[in-house]
Amino acid sequence: MTGTAAREAANPLGVHALVWVAGWSEPEARRAIARTHEAGFDLIEIPLLDPRSVDAAMTRRLLDESGVGATCSLGLPFEADVSNADPGVAARGEALLADAIDVTAAVGARFLGGVVYSAMGKYLEPPTQRGRRHAVDALRRAAERAARRDVAIGIEAVNRYESNLVNTADQALALVEDVGAENVVVHLDSYHMNIEESDLAEPVRRCGARLGYVHVGESDRGYLGRGTVDFGQLFRALADIGYPGPIVFESFSTVVVSPAFATALAIWRDPWQDGLDVARSARAFVETQLRPEVGDQVNGRRGR
Ligand code: MN
Repeated sequence: MTGTAAREAANPLGVHALVWVAGWSEPEARRAIARTHEAGFDLIEIPLLDPRSVDAAMTRRLLDESGVGATCSLGLPFEADVSNADPGVAARGEALLADAIDVTAAVGARFLGGVVYSAMGKYLEPPTQRGRRHAVDALRRAAERAARRDVAIGIEAVNRYESNLVNTADQALALVEDVGAENVVVHLDSYHMNIEESDLAEPVRRCGARLGYVHVGESDRGYLGRGTVDFGQLFRALADIGYPGPIVFESFSTVVVSPAFATALAIWRDPWQDGLDVARSARAFVETQLRPEVGDQVNGRRGR
């Protein structure tokens, strides 16, 4: 494994748990962590859509045994949406975030990202000023709780069908600015950027040191390098800003995800059958992109 030592000094590479398993029972957690290790990743991203269902002690034990690291993520449900104009609904969202922060710390992770600022799903109207204020206030208090546990919170910019509040890096930066806490960072995802941004480099440069987490996903959320995402542009910009943070592969197929998750993210097709194959392929692809001399050759050959 040439380059491993150099890479370990740089970006930790991760894979989303939903590449492996739909749930987080002990057998599922064990399998997901083992496969993450087998595919050569440094960390697994554990979804906390229902934080109280996650056995933190079991998770921490399995992670410790394997040497695999972890980060956590979630998307809030509409009934517990911190950006809702109704203070009761926003408060339920804040309580869910508090639970998720506690579980993140309890499994030994130091990052909670995703759609933590609104519901994850298609809104039928634009955000309201009042709702955005609720989100900012909730995130400010969540950030204080997270800081006491040495956890950072990532604001993931997602496409217009998955939130109405933060669709671009600039909107994520504005929200981070308004929350005004050191441990709240921007979380970018190439799949969403490919839909909402006019290019993949300038948003990364505008984030600079505020960028704390990166998802790499292809345009069809399948195999990296087989879609329309311009990864050459993205990785050159990450190199330009000296981005030191995690790079985590996210991919969804109906062969793994639960029906509820499939409905929330409109996963109706199966871009792959074999999680290990897509993960290994992604791991190799990211490694290539992180070595500019090789990445440029690959991108050049593809006419970029
Ligand atoms: Mn993502």
